[in-house]
Amino acid sequence: MDLAIFTTPSELGHYLQSHRSQSIGFVPTMGALHVGHQSLIDRARHENTLVIVSIFVNPLQFGPNEDLDQYPRQLEIDRAICETAGVDVLFIPTPESMGIRDTLTQVIPPPMMTSGLCGRTRTGHFQGVATIVTKLLNIVQPDRAYFGEKDAQQLAIIRKIVADLNLPVDIIGCSTLRADSGLAHSSRNQYLSPTGKAQSAVIYRSLKQAQVLVASGETHPPAILAAVVTELGTVPEFQLEYLELVDPETLQLIEVVDRSVLIAIAGRIENTRLIDNITIDK
Ligand code: AMP
Repeated sequence: MDLAIFTTPSELGHYLQSHRSQSIGFVPTMGALHVGHQSLIDRARHENTLVIVSIFVNPLQFGPNEDLDQYPRQLEIDRAICETAGVDVLFIPTPESMGIRDTLTQVIPPPMMTSGLCGRTRTGHFQGVATIVTKLLNIVQPDRAYFGEKDAQQLAIIRKIVADLNLPVDIIGCSTLRADSGLAHSSRNQYLSPTGKAQSAVIYRSLKQAQVLVASGETHPPAILAAVVTELGTVPEFQLEYLELVDPETLQLIEVVDRSVLIAIAGRIENTRLIDNITIDK
């Protein structure tokens, strides 16, 4: 089947009227698609009869000094990737058609989940994500929606919104796709030089240090975090923004590692902000 492309919620809604009997898998993205996105699409393809991908560089989730204008946009390439991956529908709404204006009703996730990790420096970011994801879920009304564990805070917040607002969709978390170096694939990796990319491998390397320590029986977060910081220190170009050990569901700091924990890092290399995390099972 050919890839259908729609640019407004009403066009998509019209199309979906005659496709509601299918099982719908939905993959929301901001475009600049890479193999990480593709793994979500492949899973959606496998588990549903109709696959919808959205591309929307959501202005609400960018702060005033962030990279909204520079964010990579490559629609023709993205469209080819979607065609090859067997996507049925590509939804590329315009900001106007998504109602982006000052008077837009917003979805506010619980502050306890947005105050730490990325929310510490990205004020309003998760409100912007929550608002647009809720709108997209209401527009598409998929059976399943696919999100990457790479954005672990986003995934936890979306799960909470879906539960709290009784949205009728299964949220499927998908594991992080990485380059051979361990660097998590990200649209923002395009900003990095080859040297920067090689240096960024320190992020995953340092997360693995935490895993090794926990496996050896360490339960004390300061000891675990210290080992991570030491590894990060081997690449002085990496400027750490945060390093936190939290509960994967509530995102609250944990005092003893006596259950699964999420260890998450954000920082900059060559002024590009990168995030990564792993969940360590106990
Ligand atoms: P983005 O376009 O960055 O908003 O990402 C769209 C979706 O793809 C989100 O659910 C991300 O968590 C997910 N994603 C991004 N990078 C990866 C990756 N390396 N592996 C798996 N999923 C990813």
